[in-house]
Amino acid sequence: MPALEHFNIEQVDKALDPCSDFFQFACSKWMKANPIPADQGGWGTFNALAIWNIAAIHKTLEEAAAPSPNRTPVQQKVGDYYASCMDEDAINKAGLIPLQPELHRIERLTNKSQLPEVIASIHQMIRPANLSYIDAAYQGALFGVYSQPGFDDARVTLAALDQSGMALPGREFYLNDDAKSKEIRDQYVKHVARMLELSDEPAARAVKDAQSVLAMETELAQAAMEIVLRRDPKNQNNKMSLQQIQALTPSFNWKRYFAAMQAPASPQYMVLAPGFFRGMEKLVQTHSVEQWRAYLRWSILHAMASSLSQPFVEENFDFFGRTLGGTKELQPRWRRCSSYADTDLGEAVGQAYVAKYFPPENKERMLQMVKAIKSALDQDIDAATWMSDTTKKAAHAKLAAQVDKIGYPEHWHDYSSVEIRRDDFLGNVQRSSAFEIKRRIAKFGTPSNRYEWGMTPPTVNAYEDAASNTINFPAGILQPPFFDAAAGEGINYGAIGGVIGHEIIHGYDDQGRKFDADGNLKDWWTPADAANYEERDKCITDEYTQDVPEAGAKQNGKLSAGEDTADNGGVHIALAGLANTLKSQGKDLDQPAANGATELQNFFLSWANVWCGEVRPEVARTLVITQGHSLARYRVNNVLGNMPEFGHAFSCRAGQSMVHANACRVW
Ligand SMILES: [Zn+2]
Repeated sequence: MPALEHFNIEQVDKALDPCSDFFQFACSKWMKANPIPADQGGWGTFNALAIWNIAAIHKTLEEAAAPSPNRTPVQQKVGDYYASCMDEDAINKAGLIPLQPELHRIERLTNKSQLPEVIASIHQMIRPANLSYIDAAYQGALFGVYSQPGFDDARVTLAALDQSGMALPGREFYLNDDAKSKEIRDQYVKHVARMLELSDEPAARAVKDAQSVLAMETELAQAAMEIVLRRDPKNQNNKMSLQQIQALTPSFNWKRYFAAMQAPASPQYMVLAPGFFRGMEKLVQTHSVEQWRAYLRWSILHAMASSLSQPFVEENFDFFGRTLGGTKELQPRWRRCSSYADTDLGEAVGQAYVAKYFPPENKERMLQMVKAIKSALDQDIDAATWMSDTTKKAAHAKLAAQVDKIGYPEHWHDYSSVEIRRDDFLGNVQRSSAFEIKRRIAKFGTPSNRYEWGMTPPTVNAYEDAASNTINFPAGILQPPFFDAAAGEGINYGAIGGVIGHEIIHGYDDQGRKFDADGNLKDWWTPADAANYEERDKCITDEYTQDVPEAGAKQNGKLSAGEDTADNGGVHIALAGLANTLKSQGKDLDQPAANGATELQNFFLSWANVWCGEVRPEVARTLVITQGHSLARYRVNNVLGNMPEFGHAFSCRAGQSMVHANACRVW
């Protein structure tokens, strides 16, 4: 096991000026000492903890894999799953044989009217995306289906249909016409052809098929909703009856699709991107059966690549790891297998993890911090000069109703119906994915459950969910350097406190503010207060609309608005929570802590410390183009440059880069 990293003041480079580039001041020594490993697309304190967690899971998986009659049913599942994944010889020997039934099903597609059943069979075996990453979900063949609380009435879970079916990281990768994008598409077509060839297609046919795959995915990308428009939940709130979706795509029989998925009827169907489904209709009409077979064959090979024999694993890594991610080497197999076990049987694997690494006293201290930070937001709302009392009242009500979930679920998923065999890795992946899909689909039309989790316990991440009005912190992030039972208040509030503040503020960012206390998409703002909000938020949007030289791309502040607003407000309320906590102990922010720095300095250094690290240029480009999180450097410098308290902590002067003349602040 690698060692856990604790916050260490010695890591600061005192030769640098904190007021000109705080990220460098706090992180350059760390980054010099911790270059990106060959098997990673980036490296930072986040990744180091994630690898520590995987190593922790790995230990319990190894123990569970030893075939002892004393194993519990949960140990049998996770142990045999892991053993099947580690048996690379057997996987290589079997080659394509375990996937043949699915490939034959696709070969038997002789008429496009059979598409619903064939697509349903693929959808039942592809790993569903992590709930909290649904916005980036391109994993399904053709389209995505999942369950989601209704926008207008979050008490009931409905079926949601979404754009998907593109293997590149976002629609921009198909549509942008700069040289880099074209180069990636050229490489992509070659990769698709090689995968098809590996599945025994003759070379000439594989090349032709790969070109139709790119053409079809490009049409899907053209029909897909643009990423910034997707950020407005109103654009996704399109409720339809089964008859209405049928009218949207007359050539695809939804009744038969849902029957093949064994899905219960949903009172309504949420079509998150109607334009996409109009594009899908055109795709069904205009492409030949041969082209559809090629697309589906590719979809399944792509989805299953990491569970197949070595040539598939290598080829998949060559494009998605090397070309797209800049990564040099595959991770060791034990680490990949441990991650797959976490993905496929997460709430079984997580039980041993929390028993060993998440003591109840950690949860107690987290609850105290959440309480202190929430009451800081209550004070902040009261003090706001730009909101009326009516809006303030609704804002307080929403905060009072926000549920905090810390560590792990109260009730674990019961995997007893999933058959896990020691000699069938691909089958284990398919059956555990089918179990999860079935579990989600069974929720159509049922009461929503706020207490379910969208991340597994060892995950180093956290999320806010607007529909359930919850903030969620898996046990995996409640470890040093984020949460450190041995560290002082300033250090903990700067790290996990900033994360807590960030998640709370998501309920009040440009998306979250559109949902009310009950998780319904309902406007609780007076028009004047909403206009004031927009004006304050525009300051942040403008600030983050910036060139990102390390990514070779320009950031769109409208895409990252939610995350940037959550950072700006989150660090602010975490600091106010720290000040209140110290005050209750008879101390203040300028007081020296055990390491000699003031509590206030520790707070800012600790926030920077959790972001120490960097990503490869290929990864930076994908992140900036396709998703809403600003790169680490900006999560430190842009956020702290907006805070006068930062200038005070490090005696910065007006005019220095870390002192913004026009300081943005919403919360
Ligand atoms: Zn966030």
